[in-house]
Parts: sequence; structure tokens; C-alpha cells
Amino acid sequence: PFDVLVVGAGPAGVSSAVYAARKGIATGLVAERIGGQVLDTMAIENLISVPYTEGPKLASALEQHAQAYDVDIMELQRAARLVPAAEPGDLHRVELESGAVLSGRTVILATGARWRHMGVPGEQEYRNKGVTYCPHCDGPLFKGKRVAVIGGGNSGVEAAIDLAGIVEHVTLLEFDGTLRADEVLQRKLHSLSNVDVLVNARTTEVTGDGAKVTGLVYEDRTSGEHHTLALEGVFVQIGLLPNTEWLEGTIELTNRGEIVIDERGATSVPGVFAAGDCTTSPYKQIVTAMGSGSTAALSAFDHLIRTTAP
Ligand code: FAD
Repeated sequence: PFDVLVVGAGPAGVSSAVYAARKGIATGLVAERIGGQVLDTMAIENLISVPYTEGPKLASALEQHAQAYDVDIMELQRAARLVPAAEPGDLHRVELESGAVLSGRTVILATGARWRHMGVPGEQEYRNKGVTYCPHCDGPLFKGKRVAVIGGGNSGVEAAIDLAGIVEHVTLLEFDGTLRADEVLQRKLHSLSNVDVLVNARTTEVTGDGAKVTGLVYEDRTSGEHHTLALEGVFVQIGLLPNTEWLEGTIELTNRGEIVIDERGATSVPGVFAAGDCTTSPYKQIVTAMGSGSTAALSAFDHLIRTTAP
């Protein structure tokens, strides 16, 4: 068995594996793809001390860093079920879709998350060519330009407020008749002169010139009419879905599926820790994922020295 078995190899999982391996304990890293969401992007400009890198380059740097230690890396494997230890001191088991079973004295869950997509024509085609899901990452690319934010929940309204300070103009589109964001955010939003809010607006298409976004089409759900907005960027903010479906019923999740952790990365199951975008951590970024990965690994180590016989 592993002392620390890490599930997921994005920034959080790799950080956990490196921290665990540096303690000289048996460390396993099992994941579908090494690098995680980082593989889905190009320019990364907010990984502190690295002014510019690109997703695939960072993903391969993550892999190399894990390989520099005695980490047992198992790629192209999906975890299907977690079976927590029945008694304190017993092993936790992770069953893979392939049928194999791994076990660990401690487990770190770092399976990340994925952005909910609109599922309209043009969205995939213009992804990273104007369509984006991360205002903290890509906001500065749209300085002085016109953008839309899709979604009137807290994340959409926060994004619109954030972007209004950078871009020339923001149009926020909400499918429902009212915004769902907190009152205080809505008040702030409505106080901004370069933001328009459209409710009952169903985005039906992202348009482009083949190379980049040029606008979007929405249906006014009250009149049924279609309208076009000319703009350069579309920020989709309709939800971040944690990759935790496989954990339902075994550890405590929020109603949004996030793994509930404390400030040490501990979950509701003793000896099982979690880190990164799959957890209740409030911000979902590469640096925060790396930080929480190291926290979870150090907590796992602390758990081991307290619970394993000398
Ligand atoms: P992830 O990166 O999601 O990694 C999850 C890991 O778990 C992967 O290895 C995956 O294969 C694996 N996994 C999932 N389910 C299973 C399973 N059942 N079994 C086994 N393995 C599984 N952040 C920034 O700080 N700066 C940026 O510029 C930036 N740009 C971004 C651009 C895009 C397009 C996207 C999508 C995100 C961007 N982010 C950016 C956010 C950043 O990528 C994430 O916050 C970060 O990758 C989260 O790390 P993580 O390790 O928690 O999860």
C-alpha cells in the first residue's frame, strides 16, 4: 500500500505528490491526465515567479517535477470509487474504472473541476479565441475591448464587476428574469456606467470570423426575438462542476458537489484529505491549487506520524 495515494494530477495533485515524496514515504499518483485543466489553456501569466508560460509547457513541467522524486505515477486511469477504511488504522481503497484497486494509509483527492458549457454553436470553435471561462486568467487580454458575461449568479456578477474595471464595455446576460447574485453585488453592478444587464436572455450562438469572436446572438425570451451583440470576448460563468460524482455518499460534499475541507485539507473521513478545485476552497487558480496540495500532503504526513505504529 501507499502511505499517501493522490488521486488527480493537476497542479494540486502534483504538488501533493512532490510534498509527500520529499518526506520519504511511499507515494502514488493516479490520474486520467497529468496536468489537468492546465492542458486546456495556452497563456498563463499569473503563476507567481513565472511571468509567462503556456498550458502544455506547465503540464510537462508538473510531470517532470513529480518524476524527479520516487513517485509511482499511474496515468490514464480513472478512479471509480473510494472505500474508506472501516477502522482507524485500516487502509483506504480506491477502485479504478479498469478494475484495479489501489490502497493507501492516507488518500488525497485532487480531481479538480470542469467549467459548465453553454452548448451553443461557436462556443467550442472559439474557445481561447475569445470564449473563456476564467476572468482572473483572461480579463487583462480584453483591455479596452467589449465583452459579454454569461450568467447572473455570484460568479457572473463578480466577473462583470471585475471586468468593468479593465475592459471598455460589459454586457451581462442572464437566462432568468432576475439575477441570482447577492444583493450587494447587484447594487455594485448597477452602479457601473459601462455595464448593461440583459435578463430573460438566452444565448444561442457565438459568432466569429474564423479566427476570433466577433459577437454573440441571444434570444429575448419574452418576445422570442433574436438580437446580435458585437463584441470581442465572451466569459461563460454558468458554473464550475467539481469532478466528485464518484465520491457521492462516501465523503461530505456541498450541494454543489465540492468536497468539504477544513484549513488543513481534511475531509469528513479521517485520513482522507483533499485539495484544489474539487474542494470548498473559495478561489480556483493554479497557485491556490498548488498551495492547497502542499497543505493536504503535510496534513497527510502529520496524520501518518500520529496514527502509524513506530
Ligand atoms: P485540475 O487541474 O482540474 O486537475 C484534476 C486532475 O484530476 C487531472 O489530472 C484529472 O485528469 C484528474 N481526474 C479528474 N477526475 C478523475 C478521476 N475520477 N480519476 C482519476 N483522475 C481524475 N488558473 C490560473 O491560475 N491561471 C490561468 O491562467 C488559468 N487559465 C485557465 C484556463 C482554462 C481554459 C481553464 C479551464 C482553467 C484555467 N485556470 C487558470 C484554472 C486552473 O487551471 C485550475 O484552477 C487548476 O488547474 C486546478 O488544479 P487542480 O489540480 O485542483 O485540478
